[in-house]
Amino acid sequence: MKYVYNFGGGKADGKADMKNLLGGKGANLAEMNILGIPVPPGFTLTTEVCTEYYKNDKSFPESLSSEVKESLSKIESIMGAKFGDPSTPLLLSVRSGARQSMPGMMETVLNIGLTSDTIPGLIEKTNNPRFVYDAYRRLITMYSDVVMEKAAGIEPKEGEGIRQKLEHHLDSYKSENGLGGDTDLSENDWRNVIDIFKNEIKSSLGAEFPDNAETQLWGGIEAVFKSWNGARAISYRKIENIPEEWGTAVNVQTMVFGNTGEESATGVAFTRNPANGENKFFGEWLTNAQGEDVVAGLRTPNPLNEDTKTEDTNHLPSLQDTMPEIYNELFEIKNRLENHYSDMQDIEFTIQEGKLWMLQTRVGKRNGIAAIKMAVDMFKEDMIDKKTAIMRINPNQLDELLHPALDKKSENGAIKLTKGLPAGPGGAKGRVVFTADDAEEWKSKGEQVILVREETSPEDVHGMHAAEAILTARGGMTSHAALVARGWGKCCIVGCNELNISVIDKQVSVGDVIVKEGDWITMNGTAGVVYLGELDLIPADPDRNEEYKELMTWADEIRKLKIRTNAESPEDAKQAIKFGAEGIGLCRTEHMFFDEARILAMRKMILANTDEERRDAVMGLLPFQKEDFKSTLEAMEGKPVTVRLLDPPLHEFITLDNEQVKELANNIGIDSSIVNQRISNLHELNPMLGHRGCRLGIAYPVITEMQASAILEATAELTEKGLKILPEIMIPLVGTVTEYIDQEKIVRKVALKVENKYDIKLNYLVGTMIELPRACLTADEIAEHAEFFSFGTNDLTQTTYGFSRDDIGSFLPEYLDRSILPGDPFQSLDVKGVGKLVSMAVKYGRSVNPSIKIGICGEHGGDPSSIHFCKNNGLDYVSCSPYRVPIARLSAAQAELV
Ligand code: PEP
Ligand code: MG
Repeated sequence: MKYVYNFGGGKADGKADMKNLLGGKGANLAEMNILGIPVPPGFTLTTEVCTEYYKNDKSFPESLSSEVKESLSKIESIMGAKFGDPSTPLLLSVRSGARQSMPGMMETVLNIGLTSDTIPGLIEKTNNPRFVYDAYRRLITMYSDVVMEKAAGIEPKEGEGIRQKLEHHLDSYKSENGLGGDTDLSENDWRNVIDIFKNEIKSSLGAEFPDNAETQLWGGIEAVFKSWNGARAISYRKIENIPEEWGTAVNVQTMVFGNTGEESATGVAFTRNPANGENKFFGEWLTNAQGEDVVAGLRTPNPLNEDTKTEDTNHLPSLQDTMPEIYNELFEIKNRLENHYSDMQDIEFTIQEGKLWMLQTRVGKRNGIAAIKMAVDMFKEDMIDKKTAIMRINPNQLDELLHPALDKKSENGAIKLTKGLPAGPGGAKGRVVFTADDAEEWKSKGEQVILVREETSPEDVHGMHAAEAILTARGGMTSHAALVARGWGKCCIVGCNELNISVIDKQVSVGDVIVKEGDWITMNGTAGVVYLGELDLIPADPDRNEEYKELMTWADEIRKLKIRTNAESPEDAKQAIKFGAEGIGLCRTEHMFFDEARILAMRKMILANTDEERRDAVMGLLPFQKEDFKSTLEAMEGKPVTVRLLDPPLHEFITLDNEQVKELANNIGIDSSIVNQRISNLHELNPMLGHRGCRLGIAYPVITEMQASAILEATAELTEKGLKILPEIMIPLVGTVTEYIDQEKIVRKVALKVENKYDIKLNYLVGTMIELPRACLTADEIAEHAEFFSFGTNDLTQTTYGFSRDDIGSFLPEYLDRSILPGDPFQSLDVKGVGKLVSMAVKYGRSVNPSIKIGICGEHGGDPSSIHFCKNNGLDYVSCSPYRVPIARLSAAQAELV
């Protein structure tokens, strides 16, 4: 087994398609070498080392150290320097690199190999003692944080980690000595700071900073492997669904330095703008700095070129102006990389004394709007085909186009708090919190929050995920906050230098204005402006986006699944049509009974003594119901509308307090005790498995009769007006064919009556929900009678697992934490169990009724992976909430292409 892959000097053992083994970073470093792009030589320890390491109780494979030694000597001969050598010391970086990029989730240690032995040699070689000590303090900071604290399993309190302590010392040193930025510190200053750092490390962590190159290297390597199972990597993996088994690779690479003086620099760039998709080279850079300064937002970086400049950064120096030749070389490399990979790349580079080195290329994260624009543009530029363009977009990213923006009108009179860089577009409002944990906690209590941080770090991801938006005081467009927010399509503003944040006092101020924890702010992430208070947001209108419209036309050409919506009002129906819905797959009717004016009739029915009284009560609702259905059926003219008959447990209609009982008794003219008696008779221990669904219609056929009359009379009256109305009447919670037959008979009888009354031929279907395991198992019997099936996968999941859909929250988090379930089965269909029942029901149903129409209307109808399942199992349509319709359209197209 080969554990170490080399790259350097134009050769490489690996290549781009070996991401699973070498991780994304390692595979692309190899590929860039092969392309002849200047990359500092190095080697990759494979993801298999990581797997072995964890399998063997955290010990490395035996042959690893000799392979590393051999690879080191290869680098040494390319570079003409030696690791740990006092006269020509070679310095190394150690970085993580998983299959899929996890921005900042895992660890990096730079400048490995600086010790009391090698420092004098490097000073002599570079003639730049200030640079050497600057590099050394960076090594000390990173190493103590990554290796001596995190990898050692030490968990300091918020704000008391070794890195923060060292940064605090550095800040104090600067203010005591009247120094501004890092670049103001001299050689001597750095030496003083280093002494302070080393003392702090010893007293905080109880160990000396290691003064041996070999120890540093292996400490770094092991820490990166350990970081794969660090808390923040685990939390990120969960959010992004990255399997634990993948493991990370580790890249060991020759250091090149962007911090040797004004001729040196470092930067991060995207081959296209990741925030809006424009085909413009976009990036940030800093002179005399190392990469972490840009990414970690320690200094707010300069714009790379004219295209990156904004109103606020116009005055800053660009690389294009400052080092035009190098900029041109970089520009040429970015073109080659983008063409080679046929996708937008996120690149890192360093300039060491006038020489350009590429440190990384990877497919760049982008928000949904940018993803769509890039995919459509790249198709038009002949870079990719239509299929690739469609597959490039994660359907959930469309959500962003459906997200609100700030209402310009309310923005006009609003009080501006501050301005920053527009890192994630869209509008958001929320209450201010200052820590990731608070963001998560507030969110879990139903609060809408905005996370305000000095800068974010990978430890904050859970809070960033919980927040509506992210606001930082420092950092640029490529800072951690910006990258992560963009990946999730969140509104985000970074680099608001005016913000004065105090986590301890839980407040942020700008001049005299103080915003406390819990205060509302509103953000315009497209313009980078923050306002005090709550402003209005307006719903998004994706049809304003030309690329989106074009992409969706392509998706519609490809998909075979029809997309319907779950809607119960004409407003919802109209919204869904705008988003592309082709019908209603589920119109729930229960809400129509809870209206003040109507619920009395239901209560009267429940309390009625005779059939006559019961009939009078229910039929009193007919005119109301007819109007309900008329408006929705009319809005969906020409499209099928599945109306489900009443489903909720009966007792929900008579959940009353004492006052209400009295009032009801008075109203009907009976004694309160009779009402109470009836309430107690109807009490159920398991209402979800109780008197609901078709069981209601069977016990009280007049309900089915009234609803069928309302639907079909509404249909007849609209048909008379010349409209094409296509109702599909759906019987809920059927478990036996006899239940279905009982209810169908009532509907058919009503239909005949309506046809006679209006002298019209109705165009309607009768079918059933399939939402109980028994219905799946006997679907052949049911399909002999039903004209359609619609899978109610909410109840089917509930009854297959025996998990109460209303109570799963009490144990699901634990199940997920301990990997007992891979995910919430109420969100993404459990293919193995529930899916097997669905497949079986489709097969049985079609075996007796080949043309039976089959769809799904549970929540899973809007979930991309469940949609793939539906396509693979021959369903005719999926139905989901209006705002998920575009997502379902794209997912259905992707399901045809994989
Ligand atoms: C279902 O059970 O999946 C369904 C759509 O019905 P409801 O959610 O109304 O029970
Ligand atoms: Mg149901």
